[in-house]
Amino acid sequence: MAQIELKDVSLSYFTLKQETEALREINLSIKAGEFISIVGPSGCGKSTLLSLISGMLKPTKGEVLIDGHEVSGTSPKVGYMLQHDHLFEWRDVLSNLLVGAEIRRMDKKAARQNAIELLERYGLGEFAQHSPSQLSGGMRQRVALIRTLVAKPDILLLDEPFSALDYQTRLMLSEEVFHIIKDQGKTAILVTHDLSEAISMADRVMVMSKRPSTISTVHSIRFDEGDDLSPWKKREAGRYNYYFNAIWKELGDHVLP
Ligand code: ADP
Ligand code: MG
Repeated sequence: MAQIELKDVSLSYFTLKQETEALREINLSIKAGEFISIVGPSGCGKSTLLSLISGMLKPTKGEVLIDGHEVSGTSPKVGYMLQHDHLFEWRDVLSNLLVGAEIRRMDKKAARQNAIELLERYGLGEFAQHSPSQLSGGMRQRVALIRTLVAKPDILLLDEPFSALDYQTRLMLSEEVFHIIKDQGKTAILVTHDLSEAISMADRVMVMSKRPSTISTVHSIRFDEGDDLSPWKKREAGRYNYYFNAIWKELGDHVLP
């Protein structure tokens, strides 16, 4: 059974002056443990799509289902990682990790123990008592991901999580985040402007058209070298350039007049 399902989902934003039709009749089915990347022109509705899956927005038409149940409001099953880490500077790393657990009134001791284990597992154990300002941009984003994991979501929504970082850091971090997500067995949906990131991380890349946006094509990313290559290795794999050129051309068709 699909873990995430969108059936004929449309979404319009209404303001006093106008209606903006962001998404039109989106159909989408994602299995548990899949990694999906979404690419498409600016303003086409990628963030809107994630908001629908997270339950922050309700579709104007159609249905969003998670584990076969219609989404009604936000759920602890779904975690978010954004471009800005939103860490609180006045709290140390460990206490930043516990913010969500406090809000959700989860068991404090268990959440703390889990947070410490995650920090250690992913190489940040010695930074538990540091303040966020003492960390590099890449480390801060890893802390932001771990903060999301402390809430034990099944699904991770990543909305351009590496966009604010320099190229080297993004390359390294995308590699680390990929391994953390696989290690934790989560389903992930990544929105990114970076096509090589999209291809090297995902099982499938979805291309969205201009607004009112729909999913124009879905590319299954398979390499002869094997299915469990790291993003780094995928960038060197034989078919990588084929995927890159095909999707690049398609994106151009959506963006160029
Ligand atoms: P993307 O993430 O692909 O850049 P968004 O999902 O943020 O696109 O936005 C899709 C469209 O919906 C854009 O035209 C944007 O201006 C519009 N939009 C987004 N949020 C709102 C809102 N709260 N009210 C009105 N229009 C909005
Ligand atoms: Mg966006």
